Amino acid sequence: MNKGCRFGTHRVVEPSGVLPQAALKINNEMKINSNELLIEVITLNIDSASFTQIKDVCNSDKSLMEEMISDIVSKRGKMQNPVTGSGGMLIGRVKEIGTDFPDKSLSVGDTIATLVSLSLTPLKIKKIRDIKLENDQVDIDGEAILFESGIYAKVPSDMPEKLVLAALDVAGAPAQTDKLVSKGDTVAVIGAAGKSGVLCCYQAKKKVGNNGKVIGIVPFEEQVKGLKELGVTDDIIVADATKAVDVYEKVMALNDEQVDVTINVVNVPNCEMSAILITKDSGVVYFFSMATSFTKAALGAEGVGSDVTMIVGNGYTKGHAELTLNLLKESDKIRKLFEEIYG
Ligand code: NAP
Repeated sequence: MNKGCRFGTHRVVEPSGVLPQAALKINNEMKINSNELLIEVITLNIDSASFTQIKDVCNSDKSLMEEMISDIVSKRGKMQNPVTGSGGMLIGRVKEIGTDFPDKSLSVGDTIATLVSLSLTPLKIKKIRDIKLENDQVDIDGEAILFESGIYAKVPSDMPEKLVLAALDVAGAPAQTDKLVSKGDTVAVIGAAGKSGVLCCYQAKKKVGNNGKVIGIVPFEEQVKGLKELGVTDDIIVADATKAVDVYEKVMALNDEQVDVTINVVNVPNCEMSAILITKDSGVVYFFSMATSFTKAALGAEGVGSDVTMIVGNGYTKGHAELTLNLLKESDKIRKLFEEIYG
Protein backbone atom coordinates (compact mmCIF):
# COMPACT_ATOMS: atom_id res chain seq x y z
CA MET A 1 0.00 0.00 0.00
CA ASN A 2 1.39 3.44 -0.92
CA LYS A 3 1.43 6.31 1.53
CA GLY A 4 -0.19 9.46 0.14
CA CYS A 5 0.26 13.12 1.04
CA ARG A 6 -1.37 13.87 4.40
CA PHE A 7 -3.45 16.65 2.78
CA GLY A 8 -4.57 14.45 -0.11
CA THR A 9 -2.64 16.17 -2.92
CA HIS A 10 -1.78 12.73 -4.39
CA ARG A 11 -5.43 12.54 -5.47
CA VAL A 12 -5.53 15.85 -7.32
CA VAL A 13 -6.04 15.26 -11.06
CA GLU A 14 -6.27 18.86 -12.21
CA PRO A 15 -4.96 21.49 -11.99
CA SER A 16 -1.70 20.14 -10.68
CA GLY A 17 -0.10 21.71 -7.62
CA VAL A 18 -3.32 22.65 -5.81
CA LEU A 19 -4.90 21.17 -2.70
CA PRO A 20 -7.96 18.89 -3.13
CA GLN A 21 -10.45 21.64 -2.18
CA ALA A 22 -9.26 23.92 -4.98
CA ALA A 23 -9.00 21.09 -7.52
CA LEU A 24 -11.45 20.86 -10.39
CA LYS A 25 -11.12 17.10 -10.34
CA ILE A 26 -9.79 14.60 -7.84
CA ASN A 27 -9.19 10.87 -8.13
CA ASN A 28 -12.10 9.05 -6.49
CA GLU A 29 -10.81 5.53 -6.95
CA MET A 30 -11.84 3.73 -3.76
CA LYS A 31 -8.60 1.82 -3.23
CA ILE A 32 -7.05 3.42 -0.15
CA ASN A 33 -3.51 4.56 0.47
CA SER A 34 -1.95 3.46 3.76
CA ASN A 35 -2.78 6.79 5.49
CA GLU A 36 -6.40 7.00 4.30
CA LEU A 37 -9.74 5.82 5.65
CA LEU A 38 -12.47 4.23 3.55
CA ILE A 39 -16.05 5.05 4.52
CA GLU A 40 -19.27 3.40 3.42
CA VAL A 41 -21.50 6.43 3.11
CA ILE A 42 -25.02 6.53 4.57
CA THR A 43 -26.08 10.14 4.04
CA LEU A 44 -24.66 13.32 2.57
CA ASN A 45 -25.60 16.60 4.19
CA ILE A 46 -25.27 19.02 1.30
CA ASP A 47 -24.24 22.51 2.35
CA SER A 48 -27.34 24.74 2.49
CA ALA A 49 -26.09 27.33 -0.04
CA SER A 50 -25.25 24.51 -2.48
CA PHE A 51 -28.48 22.56 -1.89
CA THR A 52 -30.58 25.73 -2.30
CA GLN A 53 -28.81 26.53 -5.60
CA ILE A 54 -29.35 22.97 -6.93
CA LYS A 55 -32.99 22.92 -5.74
CA ASP A 56 -33.69 26.30 -7.40
CA VAL A 57 -32.09 25.39 -10.73
CA CYS A 58 -34.01 22.08 -10.79
CA ASN A 59 -37.30 23.61 -9.64
CA SER A 60 -37.31 21.15 -6.71
CA ASP A 61 -37.65 18.24 -9.16
CA LYS A 62 -35.95 15.32 -7.36
CA SER A 63 -35.01 13.42 -10.51
CA LEU A 64 -33.32 16.49 -11.99
CA MET A 65 -31.53 17.12 -8.70
CA GLU A 66 -30.38 13.49 -8.64
CA GLU A 67 -29.00 13.89 -12.14
CA MET A 68 -27.23 17.14 -11.23
CA ILE A 69 -25.66 15.74 -8.04
CA SER A 70 -24.51 12.54 -9.82
CA ASP A 71 -23.09 14.61 -12.65
CA ILE A 72 -21.10 16.87 -10.30
CA VAL A 73 -19.63 13.88 -8.45
CA SER A 74 -18.75 11.95 -11.59
CA LYS A 75 -17.08 14.99 -13.17
CA ARG A 76 -15.24 16.23 -10.09
CA GLY A 77 -14.75 13.08 -8.00
CA LYS A 78 -16.24 15.05 -5.07
CA MET A 79 -19.52 16.80 -4.23
CA GLN A 80 -18.45 20.38 -4.81
CA ASN A 81 -21.10 22.65 -6.27
CA PRO A 82 -19.42 24.49 -9.16
CA VAL A 83 -21.52 27.62 -8.54
CA THR A 84 -21.21 28.01 -4.76
CA GLY A 85 -17.91 26.11 -4.47
CA SER A 86 -19.20 24.58 -1.24
CA GLY A 87 -19.70 20.97 -0.19
CA GLY A 88 -21.23 19.73 3.05
CA MET A 89 -20.34 16.63 5.03
CA LEU A 90 -21.35 13.01 5.45
CA ILE A 91 -22.03 10.20 7.84
CA GLY A 92 -21.03 6.65 7.17
CA ARG A 93 -19.45 3.54 8.58
CA VAL A 94 -15.73 2.88 8.60
CA LYS A 95 -15.04 0.18 6.00
CA GLU A 96 -11.25 0.01 5.91
CA ILE A 97 -8.48 1.70 7.89
CA GLY A 98 -5.07 2.21 6.33
CA THR A 99 -2.17 0.99 8.47
CA ASP A 100 -0.71 4.52 8.66
CA PHE A 101 -4.00 6.28 9.43
CA PRO A 102 -3.19 8.22 12.62
CA ASP A 103 -6.19 7.48 14.88
CA LYS A 104 -5.78 4.00 16.28
CA SER A 105 -8.98 4.17 18.36
CA LEU A 106 -11.21 3.74 15.29
CA SER A 107 -12.59 0.33 14.36
CA VAL A 108 -14.17 -0.99 11.19
CA GLY A 109 -17.94 -0.58 11.57
CA ASP A 110 -17.79 2.63 13.67
CA THR A 111 -20.25 5.30 12.56
CA ILE A 112 -18.54 8.62 11.96
CA ALA A 113 -19.41 12.07 10.69
CA THR A 114 -16.70 13.71 8.61
CA LEU A 115 -15.84 17.22 9.72
CA VAL A 116 -14.05 18.21 6.54
CA SER A 117 -15.96 19.52 3.56
CA LEU A 118 -17.37 17.33 0.82
CA SER A 119 -15.75 19.87 -1.48
CA LEU A 120 -12.44 18.03 -0.93
CA THR A 121 -13.61 14.51 -0.04
CA PRO A 122 -13.16 11.78 -2.70
CA LEU A 123 -16.64 10.36 -3.23
CA LYS A 124 -18.24 7.74 -5.42
CA ILE A 125 -22.02 7.44 -5.64
CA LYS A 126 -23.40 4.04 -6.68
CA LYS A 127 -27.00 5.03 -6.17
CA ILE A 128 -28.97 7.95 -4.77
CA ARG A 129 -31.66 6.44 -2.54
CA ASP A 130 -33.52 9.59 -1.55
CA ILE A 131 -33.24 13.37 -1.58
CA LYS A 132 -34.82 15.13 1.39
CA LEU A 133 -35.97 18.48 0.05
CA GLU A 134 -36.82 19.75 3.52
CA ASN A 135 -33.45 19.20 5.20
CA ASP A 136 -30.68 19.15 2.54
CA GLN A 137 -29.87 15.46 3.16
CA VAL A 138 -29.21 12.91 0.42
CA ASP A 139 -29.24 9.18 1.26
CA ILE A 140 -26.87 7.25 -0.97
CA ASP A 141 -25.12 3.97 -1.54
CA GLY A 142 -21.53 4.96 -2.06
CA GLU A 143 -18.04 5.31 -0.64
CA ALA A 144 -15.77 8.14 0.42
CA ILE A 145 -12.16 8.61 1.49
CA LEU A 146 -10.79 10.61 4.41
CA PHE A 147 -7.20 11.84 4.18
CA GLU A 148 -4.72 11.65 7.05
CA SER A 149 -5.37 15.32 7.86
CA GLY A 150 -9.16 14.83 7.73
CA ILE A 151 -11.09 15.35 10.93
CA TYR A 152 -14.23 13.50 11.97
CA ALA A 153 -16.36 12.73 15.02
CA LYS A 154 -17.68 9.40 16.19
CA VAL A 155 -21.48 9.56 16.20
CA PRO A 156 -22.66 9.22 19.80
CA SER A 157 -24.83 6.14 20.29
CA ASP A 158 -27.48 8.10 22.24
CA MET A 159 -28.36 10.50 19.41
CA PRO A 160 -30.02 9.85 16.03
CA GLU A 161 -27.35 9.71 13.30
CA LYS A 162 -29.03 12.25 11.04
CA LEU A 163 -29.51 14.75 13.83
CA VAL A 164 -25.81 14.54 14.59
CA LEU A 165 -25.00 14.95 10.88
CA ALA A 166 -27.19 18.06 10.62
CA ALA A 167 -25.76 19.67 13.73
CA LEU A 168 -22.12 18.91 12.97
CA ASP A 169 -22.48 20.33 9.46
CA VAL A 170 -22.67 23.78 11.04
CA ALA A 171 -20.70 23.11 14.24
CA GLY A 172 -18.21 25.88 13.43
CA ALA A 173 -20.89 28.56 13.74
CA PRO A 174 -21.95 28.20 17.39
CA ALA A 175 -18.37 27.43 18.39
CA GLN A 176 -17.07 30.62 16.73
CA THR A 177 -19.97 32.54 18.26
CA ASP A 178 -18.80 31.30 21.62
CA LYS A 179 -15.34 32.74 20.95
CA LEU A 180 -16.44 36.07 19.47
CA VAL A 181 -19.18 37.10 21.88
CA SER A 182 -18.48 38.64 25.29
CA LYS A 183 -20.59 39.37 28.33
CA GLY A 184 -22.82 42.42 27.82
CA ASP A 185 -22.56 42.42 24.00
CA THR A 186 -25.45 43.09 21.67
CA VAL A 187 -25.40 40.40 19.00
CA ALA A 188 -27.36 40.18 15.75
CA VAL A 189 -27.87 36.84 14.02
CA ILE A 190 -28.94 37.17 10.37
CA GLY A 191 -30.80 34.03 9.28
CA ALA A 192 -31.64 33.31 12.92
CA ALA A 193 -34.40 30.77 12.27
CA GLY A 194 -32.15 28.48 10.22
CA LYS A 195 -30.13 25.50 11.41
CA SER A 196 -26.96 27.35 12.36
CA GLY A 197 -29.02 30.42 13.24
CA VAL A 198 -30.76 28.85 16.24
CA LEU A 199 -27.51 27.28 17.46
CA CYS A 200 -25.72 30.66 17.23
CA CYS A 201 -28.57 32.50 18.99
CA TYR A 202 -28.48 29.94 21.81
CA GLN A 203 -24.73 30.24 22.24
CA ALA A 204 -24.78 34.03 21.97
CA LYS A 205 -27.57 34.29 24.56
CA LYS A 206 -25.55 32.13 26.90
CA LYS A 207 -22.47 34.34 26.46
CA VAL A 208 -24.01 37.84 26.63
CA GLY A 209 -25.60 37.31 30.05
CA ASN A 210 -28.31 39.47 31.58
CA ASN A 211 -26.94 42.81 30.36
CA GLY A 212 -26.46 41.74 26.77
CA LYS A 213 -28.94 41.20 24.00
CA VAL A 214 -29.48 38.84 21.07
CA ILE A 215 -31.41 40.11 18.05
CA GLY A 216 -32.59 37.52 15.55
CA ILE A 217 -33.17 38.67 11.98
CA VAL A 218 -35.49 36.49 9.88
CA PRO A 219 -36.94 37.01 6.40
CA PHE A 220 -40.53 35.96 7.11
CA GLU A 221 -43.14 36.80 9.76
CA GLU A 222 -44.09 33.09 10.01
CA GLN A 223 -40.65 32.33 11.48
CA VAL A 224 -41.08 34.66 14.45
CA LYS A 225 -43.35 32.48 16.59
CA GLY A 226 -41.16 29.36 16.40
CA LEU A 227 -37.98 31.30 17.12
CA LYS A 228 -39.58 33.14 20.03
CA GLU A 229 -40.69 29.85 21.56
CA LEU A 230 -37.10 28.62 21.61
CA GLY A 231 -36.27 31.48 24.00
CA VAL A 232 -32.89 32.17 22.39
CA THR A 233 -33.47 35.78 21.33
CA ASP A 234 -34.39 39.02 23.10
CA ASP A 235 -35.84 40.63 19.98
CA ILE A 236 -36.71 39.47 16.50
CA ILE A 237 -36.68 41.64 13.38
CA VAL A 238 -38.41 40.59 10.19
CA ALA A 239 -36.34 41.83 7.26
CA ASP A 240 -34.84 40.68 3.99
CA ALA A 241 -31.07 40.71 4.50
CA THR A 242 -30.46 41.52 0.84
CA LYS A 243 -32.05 44.94 1.59
CA ALA A 244 -29.22 46.41 3.65
CA VAL A 245 -30.67 49.84 4.39
CA ASP A 246 -34.00 48.40 5.50
CA VAL A 247 -32.19 46.01 7.88
CA TYR A 248 -30.05 48.89 9.19
CA GLU A 249 -33.07 51.13 9.83
CA LYS A 250 -34.93 48.37 11.63
CA VAL A 251 -31.95 47.55 13.85
CA MET A 252 -31.41 51.26 14.66
CA ALA A 253 -35.11 51.73 15.42
CA LEU A 254 -34.98 48.81 17.84
CA ASN A 255 -31.55 49.27 19.40
CA ASP A 256 -30.66 52.98 18.92
CA GLU A 257 -27.13 51.96 17.96
CA GLN A 258 -25.29 49.36 15.92
CA VAL A 259 -24.49 45.99 17.45
CA ASP A 260 -21.19 44.62 18.74
CA VAL A 261 -21.18 41.30 16.92
CA THR A 262 -23.09 40.17 13.83
CA ILE A 263 -23.27 36.54 12.80
CA ASN A 264 -24.29 36.02 9.18
CA VAL A 265 -25.78 32.55 8.63
CA VAL A 266 -28.00 33.09 5.61
CA ASN A 267 -27.96 30.75 2.62
CA VAL A 268 -28.39 33.31 -0.17
CA PRO A 269 -26.04 35.83 -1.80
CA ASN A 270 -25.96 39.62 -1.38
CA CYS A 271 -26.34 39.83 2.40
CA GLU A 272 -22.86 41.24 3.13
CA MET A 273 -23.90 44.86 3.48
CA SER A 274 -26.73 44.36 5.94
CA ALA A 275 -24.24 42.65 8.27
CA ILE A 276 -21.67 45.44 7.83
CA LEU A 277 -24.11 48.34 8.21
CA ILE A 278 -25.63 47.10 11.47
CA THR A 279 -22.26 46.51 13.17
CA LYS A 280 -20.22 49.10 15.10
CA ASP A 281 -16.82 50.16 13.77
CA SER A 282 -15.30 48.52 16.83
CA GLY A 283 -17.39 45.41 16.25
CA VAL A 284 -17.03 42.08 14.47
CA VAL A 285 -18.93 40.49 11.60
CA TYR A 286 -18.65 36.73 11.30
CA PHE A 287 -19.50 35.57 7.76
CA PHE A 288 -20.38 31.89 8.13
CA SER A 289 -22.57 31.97 5.04
CA MET A 290 -21.06 30.21 2.03
CA ALA A 291 -22.91 32.66 -0.20
CA THR A 292 -20.64 35.48 1.06
CA SER A 293 -18.53 37.37 -1.47
CA PHE A 294 -15.16 38.59 -0.22
CA THR A 295 -15.19 41.32 -2.87
CA LYS A 296 -18.65 42.57 -1.93
CA ALA A 297 -17.79 42.55 1.78
CA ALA A 298 -14.39 44.24 1.43
CA LEU A 299 -15.34 46.88 -1.12
CA GLY A 300 -18.74 47.39 0.45
CA ALA A 301 -17.29 48.08 3.90
CA GLU A 302 -14.80 50.51 2.41
CA GLY A 303 -17.59 52.17 0.45
CA VAL A 304 -19.55 53.04 3.59
CA GLY A 305 -16.45 53.91 5.65
CA SER A 306 -16.86 50.99 8.01
CA ASP A 307 -13.83 49.85 10.01
CA VAL A 308 -15.57 46.70 11.20
CA THR A 309 -13.49 43.53 11.66
CA MET A 310 -14.69 40.81 9.29
CA ILE A 311 -14.04 37.18 9.93
CA VAL A 312 -14.21 34.42 7.31
CA GLY A 313 -16.36 31.59 8.59
CA ASN A 314 -13.90 28.78 9.03
CA GLY A 315 -16.08 25.70 9.47
CA TYR A 316 -13.58 24.39 11.99
CA THR A 317 -12.50 25.69 15.33
CA LYS A 318 -11.05 23.62 18.16
CA GLY A 319 -13.73 21.79 20.14
CA HIS A 320 -16.54 22.69 17.71
CA ALA A 321 -18.07 19.21 17.54
CA GLU A 322 -18.11 18.77 21.33
CA LEU A 323 -19.61 22.23 21.90
CA THR A 324 -22.37 21.62 19.36
CA LEU A 325 -23.30 18.15 20.59
CA ASN A 326 -23.30 19.44 24.19
CA LEU A 327 -25.57 22.28 23.11
CA LEU A 328 -28.08 19.74 21.82
CA LYS A 329 -27.87 17.91 25.13
CA GLU A 330 -28.30 21.15 27.12
CA SER A 331 -31.25 22.56 25.21
CA ASP A 332 -34.28 20.27 25.10
CA LYS A 333 -36.11 22.73 22.85
CA ILE A 334 -33.39 22.90 20.20
CA ARG A 335 -32.83 19.15 20.34
CA LYS A 336 -36.57 18.57 19.87
CA LEU A 337 -36.62 20.98 16.91
CA PHE A 338 -33.64 19.26 15.31
CA GLU A 339 -35.18 15.82 15.91
CA GLU A 340 -38.37 16.95 14.19
CA ILE A 341 -36.55 18.29 11.15
CA TYR A 342 -33.52 16.03 10.82
CA GLY A 343 -33.81 13.09 13.23
P1 NAP B 1 -30.33 27.20 6.74
O1 NAP B 1 -30.81 26.28 7.80
O2 NAP B 1 -30.92 27.08 5.39
O3 NAP B 1 -30.49 28.69 7.28
C1 NAP B 1 -30.38 29.82 6.48
C2 NAP B 1 -31.39 30.83 6.98
O4 NAP B 1 -31.23 32.06 6.27
C3 NAP B 1 -32.83 30.35 6.75
O5 NAP B 1 -33.58 30.50 7.92
C4 NAP B 1 -33.31 31.29 5.65
O6 NAP B 1 -34.70 31.55 5.69
C5 NAP B 1 -32.54 32.55 5.99
N1 NAP B 1 -32.54 33.49 4.88
C6 NAP B 1 -32.59 33.21 3.55
N2 NAP B 1 -32.64 34.34 2.84
C7 NAP B 1 -32.66 35.36 3.73
C8 NAP B 1 -32.74 36.77 3.60
N3 NAP B 1 -32.79 37.36 2.39
N4 NAP B 1 -32.77 37.52 4.72
C9 NAP B 1 -32.71 36.95 5.95
N5 NAP B 1 -32.61 35.62 6.14
C10 NAP B 1 -32.59 34.83 5.04
O7 NAP B 1 -28.77 27.08 6.52
P2 NAP B 1 -27.62 26.54 7.51
O8 NAP B 1 -27.45 25.09 7.31
O9 NAP B 1 -27.84 27.09 8.84
O10 NAP B 1 -26.38 27.23 6.82
C11 NAP B 1 -26.25 28.64 6.85
C12 NAP B 1 -25.10 29.11 5.97
O11 NAP B 1 -23.88 28.57 6.46
C13 NAP B 1 -25.22 28.64 4.52
O12 NAP B 1 -24.79 29.67 3.67
C14 NAP B 1 -24.25 27.49 4.47
O13 NAP B 1 -23.77 27.33 3.16
C15 NAP B 1 -23.17 27.98 5.40
N6 NAP B 1 -22.27 26.95 5.93
C16 NAP B 1 -21.00 27.35 6.13
C17 NAP B 1 -20.07 26.48 6.64
C18 NAP B 1 -18.67 26.94 6.86
O14 NAP B 1 -17.80 26.13 7.01
N7 NAP B 1 -18.45 28.23 6.90
C19 NAP B 1 -20.44 25.17 6.97
C20 NAP B 1 -21.76 24.79 6.78
C21 NAP B 1 -22.69 25.70 6.27
P3 NAP B 1 -35.68 30.60 4.79
O15 NAP B 1 -35.45 29.21 5.28
O16 NAP B 1 -37.01 31.10 5.06
O17 NAP B 1 -35.24 30.79 3.37
